[in-house]
Amino acid sequence: MKFQVISTDLDRIREDSDERLCRGGVERIGGEAIVTVDSKNSPKQKFTAPIRDVGAALDFVLRFLASDRSGIEEIRNLGDIQAVGHRVAHGGETFHESVIIDNKVTQLIEDCIDLAPLHNPNNLRGIRAVRELFGERTPQVAVFDTAFHTTIPEYAYLYALPYHLYRRHRIRRYGFHGTSHRYVAYRYRTLCNLTREQTNVITLHLGNGCSATAIRGGHSVETSMGMTPLEGLIMGTRSGDLDPAIVNLIATKEGMGPHEVETMLNTQSGLLGISGLTNDMRVLQEELADHDDRRVRLAIDMFCYRARKYIGSLLASMGGAEAVIFTGGIGENSAEIRARVCEGLEWAGIQMDDVRNKETVRRPGQISVEGSKLPVWVIPTDEELLIARDTVRCVLGEPLPG
Ligand code: ADP
Repeated sequence: MKFQVISTDLDRIREDSDERLCRGGVERIGGEAIVTVDSKNSPKQKFTAPIRDVGAALDFVLRFLASDRSGIEEIRNLGDIQAVGHRVAHGGETFHESVIIDNKVTQLIEDCIDLAPLHNPNNLRGIRAVRELFGERTPQVAVFDTAFHTTIPEYAYLYALPYHLYRRHRIRRYGFHGTSHRYVAYRYRTLCNLTREQTNVITLHLGNGCSATAIRGGHSVETSMGMTPLEGLIMGTRSGDLDPAIVNLIATKEGMGPHEVETMLNTQSGLLGISGLTNDMRVLQEELADHDDRRVRLAIDMFCYRARKYIGSLLASMGGAEAVIFTGGIGENSAEIRARVCEGLEWAGIQMDDVRNKETVRRPGQISVEGSKLPVWVIPTDEELLIARDTVRCVLGEPLPG
């Protein structure tokens, strides 16, 4: 579980002067959990505490934030936390934008559990924990990872399966990382002084999970992830695209059940599966530099090739873009991977600037040469900021920008 405390209101949103008071996380929930808290004015804290589930983790964190130990001067007691925004994994076809959470909304999130059995129940636990701690008075807002992609047209989101499967089970592509793609597109258009309607870009979120989105007129029109976050690009431990017949073949040949195969595709594949070493791109790059390992090289080659292939395909699907934007842990930090992904895309108008590329790390900036027909950018994502801003707007009944 990750969290941030952000001080903001409509004026600060307009002025882009929201203030991050604290960020942190809780790992290894279910046993002796590791809690990290990094507050604005105090040294970083790291400690352990027994925490049984996500609900208990949220309860623990909120009480901690309101205590003297947190070092956040602006929060003296729980009443100083005025609203809570949750990142909710799956909003199915129901949620097109962020909403205030009430009983009806929690029921609808529950109805989406089939679509995200690992994530939505945890999101609900967090929502209930906040309600129990604060009562009904403190508003909560759900920000869905799928919402940004609900503008993808039917011909793009349907799988070519018997149609009744879509009707019966809502089997279709939903897409994920929506908050990140939306934030990056928003930041790009403010940096370039464009309106939402003028925003035609491809966003590449390359982190542990990876996805690429085509944004036309400010709306998502195509994305690489599908019914689940397994489809599309090669990721840290996920395979991305593959021939669906392979699932049955692996199950038969390896004596595995379909669930086991799916788990393997999610947790043992991707960069980890090919390299046989790690899912961590930074470690792979260090390993390649030190030992020139063949399978490490192959894993990185495959990763970059798949991303490049998606840029080409998204350019076709959206009828050309005005920029390609990198974000996520790999996209924000690794000039080498960005250069490799863009290699051979001169035909599409991309002319990278090596110096700019190397110098642009974890900050926004253009990394193609001035005059590149298709400019390339780096824009660090900030999903928490978008969640905080959506929360403010929902609570005050203000319209939500895309
Ligand atoms: P998540 O998707 O879990 O939020 P991140 O967006 O933080 O993850 O991305 C994690 C990935 O970013 C890891 O593969 C990590 O190795 C990679 N990464 C972080 N810093 C660098 C770097 N300097 N060079 C290459 N890869 C990096």
